[in-house]
Amino acid sequence: MHRQLIAAAAAILLLTALPLFSAGSGPGAAAAAPAAGPASQQAGAERDRGRDYYEARGEIVWEVPTEEKVIALTFDDGPDPTETPIILDLLKEYNAHATFFVVGNRVDKFPELVKRELAEGHELANHTYHHSYFRKQASVSRFRDEVRRTQESIQSVTGQRPHLFRPPGGYYSETLVQAAREAGYLTVLWSWHQDTKDWQSPGVDKIVGKVLSNARNGDIVLFHDHVERHPQTAAALKEILPELQKRGFRFVTVSELLQYRKSRQVHS
Ligand SMILES: [Zn+2]
Repeated sequence: MHRQLIAAAAAILLLTALPLFSAGSGPGAAAAAPAAGPASQQAGAERDRGRDYYEARGEIVWEVPTEEKVIALTFDDGPDPTETPIILDLLKEYNAHATFFVVGNRVDKFPELVKRELAEGHELANHTYHHSYFRKQASVSRFRDEVRRTQESIQSVTGQRPHLFRPPGGYYSETLVQAAREAGYLTVLWSWHQDTKDWQSPGVDKIVGKVLSNARNGDIVLFHDHVERHPQTAAALKEILPELQKRGFRFVTVSELLQYRKSRQVHS
């Protein structure tokens, strides 16, 4: 009897979560399961809250399909004293503007790198203070604290407040998305076909191949300028940047890319 109940609950959970797990992602799955609660209640309340739901409402951005040859390169988890300067040099060489989803405690450690990112035309965005994963049952107050502390760190260094938030690991829930909105943030993930997995050190060729064989207008590409393993991102960029430039792409920040979303909606 007990085992049947568990099986039934598991089946409901699986059905509920299926739309959310339709693609892979960075460290961890692309999406979090719905917030806590009995499975039977969740099934009705949260069933359709996958990508389609949030994309239609404009509450989470994965990419911005557009006729323009623009692409947004994003770098998570930095700044990093070794890799970030190399990546900044490369971006400058190709006249590329990117978005750095920085981790608050690293901003406090390496403020000069954050200043340089801003001075060279890049966008700074919030990626929590401790790179905390907010899976189901996450504490909203802890989430707010992580976002606020990072915002304060960025503001104290740059004088500007960020408006974009990316949850570590890509874990999101209705609670988290709304808490981010209340704090003044739009939640930004990445194109599912542009998840380079560079944090796993898969090999430079794999990273290059992933980006170049999939590049489409309006993509948001996921890179990391701070990784725990052997960094390969800068080496990959040396091949990616010239090739995409040759194909006519302009490298824009996520906020610049979002302007194409608005104009597209107006005209469609
Ligand atoms: Zn991250």
